[in-house]
Amino acid sequence: MTLREFQERIIAIYGVRDRRRGTDATFRWLVEEVGELARAVRTGDAASLDEEVSDVLAWSVSVATLAGVDLEAAAARYASGCPRCGRIPCECPLDVPA
Ligand SMILES: [Zn+2]
Repeated sequence: MTLREFQERIIAIYGVRDRRRGTDATFRWLVEEVGELARAVRTGDAASLDEEVSDVLAWSVSVATLAGVDLEAAAARYASGCPRCGRIPCECPLDVPA
């Protein structure tokens, strides 16, 4: 599945509900899912990690869609390497967030 296909699938599944909920409330759900992912990372439970990464991915797509962001275009920013230093692998100083 390409990123475009994934975004279209998430829109098909949740688009109506996401638009009804709105960008701010959908973003708050994403943050809640990130919190659940944080707990999964802390416990290291493999099944929980798979599920929470999947949920964060889906909610990120919902927020992107509501905000008018095309996933393919967003991913293309990394196509030639690190957007900051342009290298593969990244050679930015470790204290600079990716
Ligand atoms: Zn870099």
